[in-house]
Amino acid sequence: MPGLSTSGIRNVALVGHHAAGKTTLAEAMMAATGAIGRQGSVERGSTVCDFEPEEISRQLSVSMALAPVTVDGVKVNLLDTPGYADFAAEVATALSVADLAVVVVSATDGVQAQTEDAWRAAAAIGLPRVVVVNKLDRERADFERALSEIRDRFGAGVAPVELPIGAEQAFRGVIDLFDDTATMYDPGAGGPVAGVVGPIPDELVDEEHEVHEQLVEGIVVGDDDLMARYLDGETIPRDELEASLAGSVAAGAVFPVLCCSGLTGVGVDRLVRLLMELCPSPASAAPVSVIAGGTTTEVACNRTGPPLLRVCKILADQHTGRVTLAKVVSGTIRPDDVLTNPRTRSDERLHVLQSLRGREASPVTEAVAGDFIALPRLTSTRAGDTLAPQDMPVTIAVPDPGPAPLNIAVRPASRADDDKLMSALQRLCEEDPSLAVTRVDETHQTVLGVAGEIHFAVTVERLARRFHVTVEREEVAVPYRETVTASADTQETYKKQTGGHGQYAVVRLRVEPLARGEGFEFHDEVVGGAIPRQYIPAVEKGVRESMAQGGPGGFPVVDVSVTCLDGKHHPVDSSEMSFKTAGALAFQAAVRKAGPVVLEPVSRLEVTIPVDSQGDVLGDLHARRGRVQGTEAAGDGQQTLIALVPTAELARYAVDLRAITGGRGRIRTSHDHYDVAP
Ligand code: GDP
Repeated sequence: MPGLSTSGIRNVALVGHHAAGKTTLAEAMMAATGAIGRQGSVERGSTVCDFEPEEISRQLSVSMALAPVTVDGVKVNLLDTPGYADFAAEVATALSVADLAVVVVSATDGVQAQTEDAWRAAAAIGLPRVVVVNKLDRERADFERALSEIRDRFGAGVAPVELPIGAEQAFRGVIDLFDDTATMYDPGAGGPVAGVVGPIPDELVDEEHEVHEQLVEGIVVGDDDLMARYLDGETIPRDELEASLAGSVAAGAVFPVLCCSGLTGVGVDRLVRLLMELCPSPASAAPVSVIAGGTTTEVACNRTGPPLLRVCKILADQHTGRVTLAKVVSGTIRPDDVLTNPRTRSDERLHVLQSLRGREASPVTEAVAGDFIALPRLTSTRAGDTLAPQDMPVTIAVPDPGPAPLNIAVRPASRADDDKLMSALQRLCEEDPSLAVTRVDETHQTVLGVAGEIHFAVTVERLARRFHVTVEREEVAVPYRETVTASADTQETYKKQTGGHGQYAVVRLRVEPLARGEGFEFHDEVVGGAIPRQYIPAVEKGVRESMAQGGPGGFPVVDVSVTCLDGKHHPVDSSEMSFKTAGALAFQAAVRKAGPVVLEPVSRLEVTIPVDSQGDVLGDLHARRGRVQGTEAAGDGQQTLIALVPTAELARYAVDLRAITGGRGRIRTSHDHYDVAP
């Protein structure tokens, strides 16, 4: 938009449970403001925000999408986000670049697991919140019930500023609790629906009056001057109430509740306007912390500041190629600017600037602080990167997605797939910070760290569609190990008579257990040159190689002490090679005699759950051979259990926990130690 200023921008993230209607609502707001001519539908795969084939086929958003609309010359950037727990990292990114979160609640389903997660994530970074009760046109929609759940879960600051008129199919309008008017809609008329303002229907006047007073009291309570005038019996004008409300919303003290139907359009034009009025502009946002060489400084969102971009997302499309979507954190960006990427220490020329709506791009000549910008043809950026001035290579701290809750191994379906797999996965990791890829040498597996089953399925589909790489799923092999439980010694002879030089070496050695985690020790107690000095390192090498190849169970041997006791040699036929082989043979024989056992990895698990699901979670941990070490209160009716659990039992824990807790559990695991497997 030419002439756009930072104070004329609003950045709003739409968050909430899957199917609450976020994508439809973004579509309806675009239609209501004329940004698009006709409202698309999730069912027909024709929405602006869900454009990836993986989103259309599932009818659900898997990544954040940008949908700008304009109201009275103000640019409102709507950020549509996914509602599945698998894509929480996308939600965190959207929240971190927004100035207001719109928590969308379905009037039929009420507050659900991801509604709470989104609320918590927004609260954690102090982001102002507005709640929208959506789908009021649907059968069994119930505004009162939804509102009481919202109050119940989200506390005292929840304040309805609208009431619905009519229920289910008869939902035709909303009451404005500020100015005591009703806005009525005619959804059947076709095209975007605009409301007509009129008086409140007689039968709702009493109810409105009561809720109106509650709202006014809720607002004036935060403002001494308004409070005094209210107590004097003055009727506070709407604009003053709204300004005061905007202040309380920005402070995160009051959470207005609105009502609408994204499908029929009832209430949607009012919603966009209210978002424009209530959302703080990026100009008033707290400065962003940036890090350079261990020191942290702050950069304000100002169009005259240093040019600074935060990469939010990489869009990759067969037709348009690779496009980097970034937020302008500071400064004014113009085509052909050259910025530096401190992570890669390489410069990037911003050839062309584009504004983005879904995947539709149009060229622009500048982008100011607070706005979003799409940059085609950047080569080395990845999601989470900072692009900064060359003489000020700072990095913006971004949310850390934490360790992936679910690990699944993949095997390339063919040799051709094998060749392309790693580079394809690397590309996907650049776009998707919640995807982790590890090549585990010990088990020869490629392991994908993902956020859940849907994230895995989407990743596999992207590999096939975009890179033509087919993979098959495998369980992650548990890296078992072996050790000994007793002391044993053996003597082995390696002897081979071929033409010319033969091979001859005799090694006697003792194997003893070491404490867990101590690894390996080697001692030499050979006397009288039974094994010549120069061959002792060869014996040790033979033992080490044999340990790595595995004990009787085929797993690497750890935590053993080996003492070379005695041996024999031949002046002509002995060599390093023969002592290495004899050392390995003696080690293998000694381990078999020394009570070998298999060791399994044990993880430290921290699981945060609602207190009321503690019994089920504990029972399940017990069945997984877990040992609970302690519990900690995690606030907000939640509790963190700390347990040691065999890693083999945790392969699908993230998924199972979601089932046990109705999606309300969070986990963190790390390797703790090895223990004898049962
Ligand atoms: P999201 O997952 O929150 O983005 O939800 P979607 O926008 O994808 O909507 C999920 C489903 O609910 C789709 O089938 C929509 O057509 C439907 N839907 C969304 N909003 C409304 C609404 O206001 N009323 C009705 N009746 N259906 C809706």
